[in-house]
Amino acid sequence: MFSVRSIVGPQLRRSIRQLHSASSAAAIEAERTIRDGPRNDWARDEIKSIYDSPVLDLLFHGAQVHRHAHNFREVQQCTLLSIKTGGCSEDCSYCPQSSRYDTGLKAQKLMTKEAVMQAARKAKEAGSTRFCMGAAWRDTIGRKTNFNNILEYIKDIRDMGMEVCCTLGMLEKQQAVELKRAGLTAYNHNLDTSREYYPNIITTRSYDERLETLQFVRDAGINVCSGGIIGLGEAEDDRVGLLHTLATLPTHPESVPINALVPVKGTPLQDQKPVEIWEMIRMIATARLVMPKAMVRLSAGRVRFSMPEQALCFLAGANSIFTGEKLLTTPNNDFDADQLMFKALGLVPKAPSFGDDLEDAHEAAVSEQAVSSLG
Ligand code: SF4
Repeated sequence: MFSVRSIVGPQLRRSIRQLHSASSAAAIEAERTIRDGPRNDWARDEIKSIYDSPVLDLLFHGAQVHRHAHNFREVQQCTLLSIKTGGCSEDCSYCPQSSRYDTGLKAQKLMTKEAVMQAARKAKEAGSTRFCMGAAWRDTIGRKTNFNNILEYIKDIRDMGMEVCCTLGMLEKQQAVELKRAGLTAYNHNLDTSREYYPNIITTRSYDERLETLQFVRDAGINVCSGGIIGLGEAEDDRVGLLHTLATLPTHPESVPINALVPVKGTPLQDQKPVEIWEMIRMIATARLVMPKAMVRLSAGRVRFSMPEQALCFLAGANSIFTGEKLLTTPNNDFDADQLMFKALGLVPKAPSFGDDLEDAHEAAVSEQAVSSLG
């Protein structure tokens, strides 16, 4: 009778032993993150090794770090509303709102206060704790009236007890200060992709200009929301590059949206092949490992993923979603389906949180306003 030992030679037995005992980069970095906390001195190769770990191992260790840094059942629900749609001068090649592409989208003016407040109330009733307003502009310079109107919207939505986020394009330093004074919780400005791949996607503003806006937001004391999009035709190394830039900022963004391209007819990226769920899981788990405290947001493209696929994203470390019929101009998940998903997966909505300094700034602005209205 043959024993297994006599069939398998010593060298093969050693290789099998090594295979079983070898720790992946995901395992090593998860252990270190749990022990030492977040770091921002990542080398790009280190992030690449995590990203390249066997996907189930990466998923498992993303889940470990996630449970260490967050309440794993809590998922933040954000509602994104396009308050000024289309007619944008930029050439972001994924975007149906660029005036350079024929996507059939009709440009609109800034929404009125009544319409915005009505949408915010509806979002709150549906369980959303953060209201995000998006405007299709290169920047807000020279748009004083619109900018001042948006400051009003922010104040009123904060008074409803919701967190408020904006994405209005590039900012000047002073504008970031004014947004903070109005009570803005977070400002979204995505880097989209790696520095190297970026010129293939946008030519009308630079990577450094984007980073400068993020710096103004950070300096003003507003939370930074910045992430990217996968499925733009980039290489895996560009995904690693994007995460490396974000994870080596002096302070990690508080929110990191991970979007999967939703190709829109008429845009230069209309024929891109859809992102697979494993690509999303790799991105989400790597983001969770290298920026453990950030809210990692499963964003655009979620509509294409089934409930079990989304469950894997939550397990890997995602803890925030966009709810509402539309994500700016592209379709989003059905509200009832999201409620069912929360129930089926045992998820609970995350309550809003307001940093003390933001509270103070908002209260100061409210009393300043009360004083001036008395005068
Ligand atoms: S992504 Fe923003 S800046 Fe770029 S074209 Fe669309 S609306 Fe304009």
